[in-house]
Amino acid sequence: MSHTALQPIASLLIRRVFKWVILCVVCVSSLQAWLNYRAIEENFDMTVNDVARAHLPLLSVAIWDIEPQTIQKQIALILKNPSIAYVAIKASTGQHFTGGDINHLVSGQHMVFDIPAPADASTSVGKAEFVVDKAVLRKELLRSFIIVFIEVVILSVFIFMAVVAILRRDLEKPMRQLADFVKNLQANQLSTKLELQRKPGNGYNEIDLVVDGFCTMQDSLQKHIAHQDALVAERTSQLEAAMKSLKQLSITDGLTACYNRLLFNERMPAEIQRAVRYQRHLSLIFCDIDFFKKVNDEYGHAIGDHVLLAFAKSLAKELRVDVDWIVRYGGEEFLMVLPETNLQAALEVAERIRRQVEQHLFVRMPDGTVLRITASFGVAELKVTDTMESLVQRADERLYVAKSQGRNQVQPAFEAVPDVISKPVLEPVLQAITQPV
Ligand code: GH3
Ligand code: MG
Ligand code: MG
Repeated sequence: MSHTALQPIASLLIRRVFKWVILCVVCVSSLQAWLNYRAIEENFDMTVNDVARAHLPLLSVAIWDIEPQTIQKQIALILKNPSIAYVAIKASTGQHFTGGDINHLVSGQHMVFDIPAPADASTSVGKAEFVVDKAVLRKELLRSFIIVFIEVVILSVFIFMAVVAILRRDLEKPMRQLADFVKNLQANQLSTKLELQRKPGNGYNEIDLVVDGFCTMQDSLQKHIAHQDALVAERTSQLEAAMKSLKQLSITDGLTACYNRLLFNERMPAEIQRAVRYQRHLSLIFCDIDFFKKVNDEYGHAIGDHVLLAFAKSLAKELRVDVDWIVRYGGEEFLMVLPETNLQAALEVAERIRRQVEQHLFVRMPDGTVLRITASFGVAELKVTDTMESLVQRADERLYVAKSQGRNQVQPAFEAVPDVISKPVLEPVLQAITQPV
């Protein structure tokens, strides 16, 4: 941004106009003075000629009649004209009459007139010499010049003041408003319209063009910003959706849509912490499909995948929505986390799942044979001293026991019970679930 001091355009124009006004004053006054000079000089000569024309006949008669007193009287009358400073009459008889200020004889302008004879104008009775006082002419000229100068100056001052007022009102003020508006306009106030405070009747001029241009620019900027905002909002929602689906992908298993181990490691510590803090039950069921490798080996991986998916659905069927959660812990190993659930209830759930799988999960092969699926379960309840690893390990140990004792069964981890809850009566349940099906 430039830090040059502001020089208002109106002031610049006013200064320029002022210079031109001065020049005009000088030129117009000089021209007028010269014209006046010409007119006054002409008028001056005519006045002297008129005086001569008026007095020469009387002087002619006075010389002809030889009347020196009358001649002197005429000289006195001629000298009453302020332009004539000295008069000398030379009669052809040799007589000489003078009058006026002899000092002007050298400096003044001499005008000589023949004095015609009264009866015959072609003969002269003498000469009349007028010495004209140019000081009067100069005084007249000076007075006329001063008047012209004052008139021109007054006229110029009025015109100048009018120009200044017009420039200030019609140029400087609107330009200043425009500049202030542009300077203070913020990106979030683009809808503010620029309205200049101007008197109506100026017509549509360049300032209106600038204002309109600026309004157009504001509109297009606003549209551009709105478009950009919409674009950003759209991209943000796309990004959020992508992030959500990425997050979902990162925590779920692609085949079964169960949570993966990453999510389990993230969520389980908090689940344990909550159960311990509020003294709530929390149970974990660890299950594994029996002889799954055989399924793959005999029927192929596609069938294996199919079985995995169906098995995961069977697990979900027996669990509470939005409370219990399932994790695909390994290949065909699943963990079920059951908050607010004691060992007895968890064993019941595990048993229900086992039966559900045993009775309903089968795959009918193309050759008509039916492939039945079973699974083994290890169940453990949280102890206050448990960590995530120790709890998983106890459930895993029970799963190992279930596997080693013939598979397709539920094995509880009893030793945890006294630490967390009053020992429930588990024996009937235990008997029920350990009997061969
Ligand atoms: P056990 O009764 O002792 O559990 O025997 P098992 O055959 O089920 O045990 P094992 O752990 O030896 O075999 C697990 C098999 O699961 C091995 C592997 O090929 C298979 N498996 C792991 N992940 C997938 C998968 O995503 N899809 C398929 N089709 N098979 C998988
Ligand atoms: Mg297995
Ligand atoms: Mg296994």
